[in-house]
Amino acid sequence: MLRGAFAAAPLAMALVDREGLVVSANESLGALLGIDPEVLAGKVAADLVDLASDTRAWHAYREVLRGRQARLRCTRRLKHPDGHSLWAQVTVTPLPAETATEGSEGARGSEGVRGYGGQGVLLSVADISARRELQARLRHLQMHDPVTRLPNRTLFFERLSAALEAESYEQSGTGRIGLCYLDLDGFKAINDTLGHRVGDRLLAAVAERLTRCAEEAGLARRNPGAVAPLVARLGGDEFALLIEDSTGTDQLADLAESVLKALQLPFDLAGQRMSVSASIGVVERHAAGTTPTGLMQAADTTLYWAKADGKSRWTLFDPERNAHRMTRQALSSTLRPAIERGEFALEYQPLVGMADGRVHGVEALVRWHHPQFGTLTPNRFIGLAEEDGSIVQLGRWVLATACRQARRWQLERPDEPPIFVSVNVAVRQVWDSDLVADVAEILAETGLPAQLLQLELTESAVMGSAGRPLQALQALSDMGVGIAIDDFGTGYSNLAYLSRLPVSVLKLDGSFVRGFQYEGEGVAPNPADEIVVEAMIQLAHRLGLTVTAECVETAAQAERLRRIGCDTGQGWLYSRPVGADRISLLMGSRACRQG
Ligand code: C2E
Ligand code: MG
Ligand code: MG
Repeated sequence: MLRGAFAAAPLAMALVDREGLVVSANESLGALLGIDPEVLAGKVAADLVDLASDTRAWHAYREVLRGRQARLRCTRRLKHPDGHSLWAQVTVTPLPAETATEGSEGARGSEGVRGYGGQGVLLSVADISARRELQARLRHLQMHDPVTRLPNRTLFFERLSAALEAESYEQSGTGRIGLCYLDLDGFKAINDTLGHRVGDRLLAAVAERLTRCAEEAGLARRNPGAVAPLVARLGGDEFALLIEDSTGTDQLADLAESVLKALQLPFDLAGQRMSVSASIGVVERHAAGTTPTGLMQAADTTLYWAKADGKSRWTLFDPERNAHRMTRQALSSTLRPAIERGEFALEYQPLVGMADGRVHGVEALVRWHHPQFGTLTPNRFIGLAEEDGSIVQLGRWVLATACRQARRWQLERPDEPPIFVSVNVAVRQVWDSDLVADVAEILAETGLPAQLLQLELTESAVMGSAGRPLQALQALSDMGVGIAIDDFGTGYSNLAYLSRLPVSVLKLDGSFVRGFQYEGEGVAPNPADEIVVEAMIQLAHRLGLTVTAECVETAAQAERLRRIGCDTGQGWLYSRPVGADRISLLMGSRACRQG
C-alpha cells in the first residue's frame, strides 16, 4: 500500500540508493521531467536535477548519501524536453533503515541521520515556478519606478553597494567607479503649470533618452565584458547613471556631455513641444575605500555646484572645493565653543586725519586664532556666525574688549586728545539682542565715554529700517555713540535717506579709492570716479556727515582724497591692522607708513 501511495503521490519523488542511482521514481517525477518513470530507474539521480552544477549543493548531496548530513534543500532551474523550463525545489532526505524500501517520506531530520542504516535517500522535487515567477514580479515592482520603468532608488543602492563590495575583492575590473547624478532644471515649474500627467510623461521621455545614452556608452566601451551604465530614477526629477569599472573622468565627462546633448532636443508630448535642461554632478574615483554614502554625498555636492554655477551643465567633483565646504562646516560647528575658549583676538587699524596726519581713532577688526586652521580673517567666519546666531555672543565680546582697550589708551596718555574705537556691528546684533542695553552696560563697566565709541553698520543693515533697529540707532546716538555707515557705495548709496537717520560718518568703500590707483603708473585715472567721489563728499558734508576713505594704499591716493575734501583715511599707507601695543606707539606721533 505504501508502494502505491508513493507511485500515486502528487509530489515528484524518487528513491535513490547509496550509490546515487535511482531505485524507483513515481509518476509525478516522470511528468515533471518529461521522462517515463520506468526509464528513470538506474539513472544517476544527481543528473536528473542537475545537482553537480554547484559545488556546495554537490558536496551536501554527497554528505547526505553517506549519512553524514540530515538533509539537503536547493533550488534548480530545469529544462523540460518540450522546451519550457521550470524552477524546482529539490529536497534530499535519508531514509530510516526500516522504511527505506517502503518509499515513505516519514522520517527526517536529525534523527534520520542516526537512524539511517545506509538504505538510500528520498529525492523529492517540487515545481515552484509559479511562486518564483510571482516573487520575481513582486521584486521587479519593488525595485522599479512605475512612471519611467527604470530601476528605482532601492535597486540603485543595491547595485551600488554590490559593485563597491565586489571591487574590494575582485581584481578583474578597473577598480574604479563613476556616477553621473542628474537633476532636471526647472522641472517643478513644468509640473506646476502643465500638471502631473505632462510631468510624468516628460520624466518617462527623459528616462528613454538616458537609457539610449547609456546603451550607446555601453557599446562604445573597449572592454567587451563591461556592461552598459545603470540608469536609475532616484526620485522626483533626479536620475543616476552608474558606471562600474569606469576608466577615468574622461569617460564620465563624455557620458555627461552626451546626456546634456540628448536632452537638448525638444520633447514632443502629445502635441506639447517642450525643452528641458539638466544639471549633472560627476564623480569618478577608486572603488576601494568608497562607501555608497560617501559617493552619493560627493555627487550631491557636485550637483549643487552645477546648479549654483548656472545650471544646464555638468560639473566634476573637486576635492579642494569640497574641502572648503568642509572647512565651513567645521568652522561653523566650533564657533560657539571657540568664543568661550578665548580663541578670538582684536587687531586695530588707525583712522588717520587727512589734514593733520594724526591717529584720530582705530577700527577694531576681529581675528580667530584657530587651533587647526591658523589665524582666520573675519571674511571666513563672520557670515557663518551671522547664520547660526553666534554673532551676538561674539559681537558682545568684541565690543567689550574694544571698549576696555580704548579706555586703557585714554588712561595711558591723559594729556593728549583721546582716540575713539570703531566697532563693526552685524545686522543680527541689532535685531536679535538688546544692543542698546549691551552698549550702555559695557560703557559703564569700562568707564569709556560714549563719545569714544563708534559703531559701524553696513548700508543694507540700516536701509529701510524702521521700528526696533531705528529706535536702537536713535537711542545709541542719543547716548553720544557715533554711528558710521561701512562700505558706503556698494549698496543703495542713498545719501538723502541716510541723512534722516542718526548717522554721523560715511566710510567710503575701497572700490572708489581703487579708481585712483593708476596715477603715477602712466595710466590715466578715471576722471568720472573722482568727480563722483568729490560730489559725494560735498553732499555728505552738506548733510552734516564726515567722510572716511577705506583702503588708502598709496600716497597719491591720499593726496587726491585730501584735495577733494575727505576727512579721514584708513589703509595700508598708514598702517595695517596691528596689535594694541603698536597703536600705543603710533598715538601722538604722526601716523607712520607701513606699506
Ligand atoms: P571693514 O569693516 O570694511 O574693514 C576693513 C577691511 O579692509 C579689513 O579687512 C581691513 O584689514 C581691510 N583693509 C584695511 N586697509 C586696507 C587697504 O589699504 N587695502 C586693502 N585691500 N584692504 C584693507 P578684515 O580685517 O579682513 O575685515 C573684513 C571685514 O570683516 C570688515 O570689513 C568687517 O565688515 C568685518 N569685521 C571685522 N571685524 C568684525 C567684527 O568684530 N564684527 C563684525 N560684525 N564684522 C567684523
Ligand atoms: Mg568696518
Ligand atoms: Mg569697510
